[in-house]
Amino acid sequence: HCPVGALHERDDTEQVWQAIADPKKVVVAQVAPAVRAAWGEQLGLSRDEATVGKIMDSLKRMGVDYVFDTTFSADLTIMEEGTEFLGRFTRGETKEKPMFTSCCPGWIRFIKSQYPHLVPQLSTAKSPQQMFGAVMKSYFAQAIGRSPEDIYTLSIMPCVAKKGERNMELFDGEYAGHDVDAVLTTRELVRMMRSAHIRPDTLVDRPCDALMQAGSGAGVIFGATGGVMEAALRTACYVVMGENPPADAFKQVRSQGQGTGVTTAEFHLGDAVVRTAVVSGLGNTRKLLEQIEKGEVSYDFVEVMACPGGCVGGGGQPIHDGEELAFERGKNLYALDSSAALRFSHENPDVQRLYAEYLGEPMSHRAHQLLHTDHNAWTMPRRQR
Ligand code: SF4
Repeated sequence: HCPVGALHERDDTEQVWQAIADPKKVVVAQVAPAVRAAWGEQLGLSRDEATVGKIMDSLKRMGVDYVFDTTFSADLTIMEEGTEFLGRFTRGETKEKPMFTSCCPGWIRFIKSQYPHLVPQLSTAKSPQQMFGAVMKSYFAQAIGRSPEDIYTLSIMPCVAKKGERNMELFDGEYAGHDVDAVLTTRELVRMMRSAHIRPDTLVDRPCDALMQAGSGAGVIFGATGGVMEAALRTACYVVMGENPPADAFKQVRSQGQGTGVTTAEFHLGDAVVRTAVVSGLGNTRKLLEQIEKGEVSYDFVEVMACPGGCVGGGGQPIHDGEELAFERGKNLYALDSSAALRFSHENPDVQRLYAEYLGEPMSHRAHQLLHTDHNAWTMPRRQR
């Protein structure tokens, strides 16, 4: 079958139209960082024309009630995962056993099925998609005076595997059902825009809605391989040193678009040295894991993305026969980061307010309940197409 799931994939657009038409439902959407780097390709829009603000406008025109950018919850992920990493690192736990990132469901499926003994080394943080769904059904539902059951959470993702991730039993506790109710790929989004007869040249830039409006450049680069690592190091450095490093201090972890798919680097955090590895593509990941298992290499923190180049090259993105666009799309995200007003996840004012008003602090009891999971406590749902 098609390796990227592009053929015979499930089409969830009809159930989203039904939710939009249901007067009892409040439809709340999030748009992942990588989607903005590719959606315009199918509609003949240039990179400059295809802004994320126009995706927000199209969703509103289709009848979505509230629109948000997953960069907000990418920043939230950094607060949780970065804090978790610093805890494991300072306790010496990562000396022999690196912590692995946990935001890619393709990687989670791979490690749970092929390297189950390494699962305890996964970060317990849910992915930005799942964290945002949890926050929409708790904090946001409360803020707009609705019950979690009224909220229909919709994600626009570059990824077919995210449809499976929404079915994982991630133990919320605070409400029944899933964090995320429907996942549409970038291709499905474009299909919906076409069926709604939305002309791309009539779209305007529309900001996200309050309370979760802000997103940093660190959140934007989650869509490219190395982005999670770089964003986490920016904030970890701030936490350890008490001041921000230069925003590009960790750009060594960025892929150069060639070679083994593995980028390694060491950084000083105060007196300590953090050894990092970033890998994309599951073949490359297997090779790296074998080296780690044999003791040939050693790292504290490892970022893994199943798709070569990261989410920008995900299986839900527009397909161009014989062309590999992940690296080019990644450059687009790095350009957005370098021109962003906010470059550090911990400076996101809406994330700061979420902690002040609702969660307390990173890794608090409530943050654990809503934003973390026990990867050993659930079984992988069957693949859905
Ligand atoms: Fe999905 Fe690929 Fe991104 Fe993993 S790397 S979250 S499989 S698009």
